Amino acid sequence: MGEEKGEMKAKVDQNECAGSEECVRICPQVFEMRGKTSHVYVDEVPKEAEGQCRLARDRCPVSAITIEE
Ligand code: SF4
Repeated sequence: MGEEKGEMKAKVDQNECAGSEECVRICPQVFEMRGKTSHVYVDEVPKEAEGQCRLARDRCPVSAITIEE
């Protein structure tokens, strides 16, 4: 309670993802390719990966990544 902890969540819209692998390159701590699309494989984004995760969202060519924080 009141303590700051990593609670950022990321999601890839499977209907939008074009499989460019940009997010996996930028933030492999959170995203991985499964077949032709990227998936988030962690429940919460690790604190130290938050910056990269936001960058991945910003660089996704089809804006398929959403972040909740
Ligand atoms: S950057 Fe966007 S389009 Fe490319 S793999 Fe990641 S979610 Fe999919």
